[in-house]
Amino acid sequence: MQGLMQDWPLTVDRILDHGASWHGGREVVTRAIEGGIVRTTYGQIHARAKKLSNALLEHGIRPGDRVATLAFNTYRHIEAWYGVMGMGAVCHTLNPRLFAEQLVYIINHAEDRILLADSSTAPILQGILPQCPKIEKVIWLTSDTHVPAGLPGVSYESFIAGQSEVCAWGGFPESQAAGLCYTSGTTGNPKGVLYSHRSNYLHTMMSLQADVQGLSAADNVLMVVPMFHANAWGLAFSAPAVGAKLVLPGSQMDGAAILELLETEQVSVSAAVPTVFQMLLQHLEKTGAQLPYLKKVLIGGSACPESIIRSFRDKYDVEVLHLWGMTEMSPVGSVGVPCATVAALPYDEQMPYRLKQGRAPLGVDMKLTDDDGKLLPQDGQTFGRLKVRGHSVARAYFKGEGGDILDADGYFDTGDVATLDALGYMQITDRAKDVIKSGGEWISSIEIENIAAGHPKAALAAVVGLVHPKWDERPLLIVQLKPGETATKEEFLHFLDGKIAKWWMPNDVVFDTIPLGATGKIDKKLIRQKFDGYHWPEAVAAE
Ligand code: AMP
Repeated sequence: MQGLMQDWPLTVDRILDHGASWHGGREVVTRAIEGGIVRTTYGQIHARAKKLSNALLEHGIRPGDRVATLAFNTYRHIEAWYGVMGMGAVCHTLNPRLFAEQLVYIINHAEDRILLADSSTAPILQGILPQCPKIEKVIWLTSDTHVPAGLPGVSYESFIAGQSEVCAWGGFPESQAAGLCYTSGTTGNPKGVLYSHRSNYLHTMMSLQADVQGLSAADNVLMVVPMFHANAWGLAFSAPAVGAKLVLPGSQMDGAAILELLETEQVSVSAAVPTVFQMLLQHLEKTGAQLPYLKKVLIGGSACPESIIRSFRDKYDVEVLHLWGMTEMSPVGSVGVPCATVAALPYDEQMPYRLKQGRAPLGVDMKLTDDDGKLLPQDGQTFGRLKVRGHSVARAYFKGEGGDILDADGYFDTGDVATLDALGYMQITDRAKDVIKSGGEWISSIEIENIAAGHPKAALAAVVGLVHPKWDERPLLIVQLKPGETATKEEFLHFLDGKIAKWWMPNDVVFDTIPLGATGKIDKKLIRQKFDGYHWPEAVAAE
């Protein structure tokens, strides 16, 4: 027997329709790429996104066609998302920090017909446009005065000018594709994750759970996490869904720029990768500034060091929520929020749980298996492959790249190695390819780097496994010191002593700059390349 409830397809245009109808005057504040602060509202964004849909229709774009964006977080980028998705086309977010050849591959693979780009990306586009013959038109996300000279294309403002603010959105099945985002592609070519309207809508509902983002209409949200990286963790959907004010940093994510927005916009919630908050905390330390409005920060994308959680809480009374996820999961997978048992513990005893990547919200299932797919115990000790399934998890990559990606029970292998404990807390110990295999046992590079990053002189820390004559691999610790600091290897080894197992102790420490990849994470591939053929000190090699 069928239920007798209304058929109401879960399409994301309904999110901005709701934002405009019920929170239409709520502000969206942008640090513009060309400078200055621009204030607009969900109502205005809705109207202008409809104008964009009409302009795209006039150009000949039809449902299912790919329209790409190459842009930082701005109000025009939000309009582009909804304008493209609302009419049933697919919004393909491109990461401006990727190498030119990766961008060319991705654009051609996706067969993008239109590209909406920030004016600041002109130097990138100059190099790659001739290699992307399928792009019919470039629309610069700016006004006529800032259109880059010498390149094809029109300004966004002229493209939408004269179009009607009335345009029928939705009306297609909720399973229709809405967005496309390619994975970082650390091995092989990048692969496209094709989100549906339904998966994005349900991901929004999941994100709004109190134990996930828990946003409310009274929040002012600074969305630092870029819209080109894993859907900006869904915040571009969840903020208008509840009528939270949205604050967008454009391309400026340094400590001073972020602090200014936190203050002037009275931001209560922000979200970014650890390195961004590391820079903010260093800036606060230097200037002595406070964070009177900020209540909660969402940190994910890579493991959040204890030093960040403690600094936010102890010095600024800000709660850190540690999230784990990935492009293939839309992206939220778990949140390190205290369950009742953990919340009842004194703060220091909560810390081991807060450092874990957390528990699965409704909508995500997890399991841990060995390499043969056999289930492993949930004892908090046993490392295994982390596999997931849910309403917002990929079941295949775009155009079938990578073949069948699910196991017999429909779980996707995340490529992460993790433990699961009796309370359901998952802890990532490494990417499968970053695990250090020493004498047949596994060492977690993440755990060592998190502790090392807490040394008062450290700005960043990375650990990689390098070939060792006796143990196969041993850990090398690379430390980027804070500006003006000097340190010795012994200081860092002493700092780690007692905090990790003796046999996990790095065999050497190197002081160097640490490269960050296109999504702000430490680029271990580059580090490994740099230290390829590294000679351990003689005593270490003989140990
Ligand atoms: P991406 O698809 O680029 O967002 O990368 C996803 C990967 O980032 C995951 O599979 C993890 O390896 C890593 N990651 C994301 N969040 C965390 C976290 N909180 N702790 C450790 N690793 C993380």
